[in-house]
Amino acid sequence: MAEHYANPFLGRHMTRKKTKAGVGFEHPAKGEDRCGECAHFQAPESCERVQGYIQPEDWCRLFRRA
Ligand code: SF4
Repeated sequence: MAEHYANPFLGRHMTRKKTKAGVGFEHPAKGEDRCGECAHFQAPESCERVQGYIQPEDWCRLFRRA
């Protein structure tokens, strides 16, 4: 996202979030795991790894249990 490129305090590896399409995003999650239990989730509605509006009942392949 453009505002991340403009932030001089973030390294290059931190500048890009993945698209939902690129990480097998599911809304809502089909399995047991949920964004709300993921280490990358940023309440109330975003994720540090994936772009866009993310809800606690969603899921993607980058899931890592918090
Ligand atoms: S499961 Fe994926 S989209 Fe959800 S919080 Fe974790 S990394 Fe983000």
